[in-house]
Amino acid sequence: MSRIVEVYVDVAVHGVDHVFHYLLPVHLQAVAGQAVRIPFGSRHLAGLIVGFAEQAPPNVKMKAVIDVLYDGEMMLTGEQLRLARLLADYYLCPLALILRQMVPFKLTLDASKWQRKKTRLVVVPLVQSIPESLGARAARQREALGRLLAVGELPLSEFPSHSAVKQLERKQLVRIIEVEERRSPLTGLITNETRPFSLTAEQASALYDLLQGLSKEGGATYLLHGVTGSGKTEVYLQLIQEALGLSRQCLMLVPEIALTPQMVQRFSARFGDLIAVWHSGLSPGERYDEWQRIKSGEARIVIGARSAIFAPFQELGIIILDEEHEPSYRQEENPRYHTRVVAQLRQKTSGCLLLLGSATPSLETYFASEHGRCQRIELTRRIESRAMPPVRLVDMRNEFRSGHYSLISRRLHQGLTDCLNRDEQAIILLNRRGFASFTICRDCGFVAFCPHCDISLTFHRSDNRLHCHYCGHTRPLLESCPDCGSDKLKSQGMGTERLERVLQESFPAARIGRMDADTTTHRNSHAKMLQDFANGTYNVLVGTQMIAKGLDFPKVTLVGVVSADIGLFIPDFRAAERTFQLLTQVAGRAGRGTRPGEVIIQSFNPDHYVISYAREHDYTGFYRHELGLRQRGSYPPVGYMITILLTNEREDTLIDDAARLTGLLQRALTGQAEVIGPNPCGVARIKNYYRWQIILKSSQRIALRQGLADAMKHYHRENRKTSVVLEFDA
Ligand code: ADP
Ligand code: ZN
Ligand code: ZN
Repeated sequence: MSRIVEVYVDVAVHGVDHVFHYLLPVHLQAVAGQAVRIPFGSRHLAGLIVGFAEQAPPNVKMKAVIDVLYDGEMMLTGEQLRLARLLADYYLCPLALILRQMVPFKLTLDASKWQRKKTRLVVVPLVQSIPESLGARAARQREALGRLLAVGELPLSEFPSHSAVKQLERKQLVRIIEVEERRSPLTGLITNETRPFSLTAEQASALYDLLQGLSKEGGATYLLHGVTGSGKTEVYLQLIQEALGLSRQCLMLVPEIALTPQMVQRFSARFGDLIAVWHSGLSPGERYDEWQRIKSGEARIVIGARSAIFAPFQELGIIILDEEHEPSYRQEENPRYHTRVVAQLRQKTSGCLLLLGSATPSLETYFASEHGRCQRIELTRRIESRAMPPVRLVDMRNEFRSGHYSLISRRLHQGLTDCLNRDEQAIILLNRRGFASFTICRDCGFVAFCPHCDISLTFHRSDNRLHCHYCGHTRPLLESCPDCGSDKLKSQGMGTERLERVLQESFPAARIGRMDADTTTHRNSHAKMLQDFANGTYNVLVGTQMIAKGLDFPKVTLVGVVSADIGLFIPDFRAAERTFQLLTQVAGRAGRGTRPGEVIIQSFNPDHYVISYAREHDYTGFYRHELGLRQRGSYPPVGYMITILLTNEREDTLIDDAARLTGLLQRALTGQAEVIGPNPCGVARIKNYYRWQIILKSSQRIALRQGLADAMKHYHRENRKTSVVLEFDA
């Protein structure tokens, strides 16, 4: 008898979950995870079998699968399919959206396009020395053969004269062979092999605990809470070494691969060709080759950004989530997910060891470790007992009161002068890019806004234009105020571009590099920038939060924070946590080598608890204080919260739908959860799409999800035709 299969189809049709039912004829042997050819409308398409169904959905006339594609190659593992279902359920999102993350290229009927291998021609000698017969008249042939004999083999492209090589081949002195070339994102990376350090007592004890977890049936979850510079990476490396010995694959997740070239280098130096690299910036060819290497088990270690959490492992033994608190682990577009949540589910589906590492763990993770849901391991000291850098606060109100209006306080100016005189390096953080954050008319108060988004435009001096940081729209500067005609337009506020200029004016001899989203648009510009800082081309690095992440430069002895207040007061319950993490992380870049470091933080709110705890490097103090606040507001991790984002091009349609959904939610969640909204989002329009949100808060997770699921069922039944898009942030 034919069986019924669920097939995922990779087509763009609005608002449909692209999993359809088909009949699998008896003569076709196919299993879940394989690709098949199916009739779809009037054409044939490629699809993936994602499961078998007991019976057909009512009122559906099923068509039959035509045949199995790609010689039956498995495109998804059973474990990936289980994970996909758990995730779709957790995030109330269509299964197809998750599956699309797992098959990272377009499914086509003819796979030869992405399967095509890249090859190159290599020349190998067939003799051991240059024969007499090759006379002086064949000088170019003699030279080519000489070069070849010196090294053993060379790519054909490295010979200046191809015809000389061809002649050598005709004389049977060399052979030209075609070899398959791996399209590798690591090509060109030069590393020296390194040996494991002998571990400190704290590191050794951490590794010992983790190895227990590695051999545990069903795996386990750990938090490695280690102060900045305590040697977490070395623990990761040695843990992975052990897992390789047990024939397990390892996944090393980093927040942003471009910002962590040092991490890739350290791994590459230790493990060489066993590594695959995975992130959204790979070319399609690289992507396909790395995917194959992971799936076949040839790659034993994958280093990647958040999308790597979906990679096709066969024998996953360890997931390490480094800097697990980092906001970039959150995917802000559909499907919305947090890499940590996916990792927690994948720990369950694969039974692997999950290790979350950070100097400033997220409140969620630390809370879980306090309540026995994961085991916490502490690294309390820096390597070789190096001191944590002292943090000095500058009260910017006093600076202004005494007539000093510069971005750089006198204290920071002095600190930088001393640092440069000692021939050391400095990192200066200002977490806002551009030159000035808004343009205002001093006569009528007009502010220049983006025509597509509800946000003010930022002035960039580099191209002398106004930029929208949300949609990329730019426009020329305004000559006069469009409202009142006044020419008293002024660009106010600060950004990294202005900071760089101010610093260059005050320190003409300093070699200043700037690293932010504007200076790092090219594929390798991050790595180049960091390389130039490492080799001393620059001695001051100015930048946004990009420069706070995981960098290990021993010559950095001064870290300056121009404004600790940016981000502190935005309307987000995680604002304080994010600011604490940013300040602590950037402070941790100072004094990592043998020379002691110093941190100078400027603020208009020096008494704010976030700044006080960051100053003392006091994570647990901050945690307790912040947890108290979360408790009072029933925010995570104490309570459960789900944000529903609604977007549409038409505001009236959006408001109607939002009101209807809110009504359904209120009915379904009476007495179970708080329903807040609908309200316009902080930025109420982006790229011409209006944005509203509804927030649900509850102390009971199950009741919250049940009520939400009920309300959604009604909503979808009543609003089949709506163009409003819903996204859930859980
Ligand atoms: P973290 O990731 O905790 O901030 P790192 O792993 O970058 O710290 O380690 C900080 C520095 O100490 C690095 O330069 C690293 O090479 C060095 N290091 C780590 N472990 C050891 C060790 N056991 N002995 C000597 N040096 C070490
Ligand atoms: Zn005006
Ligand atoms: Zn815009």
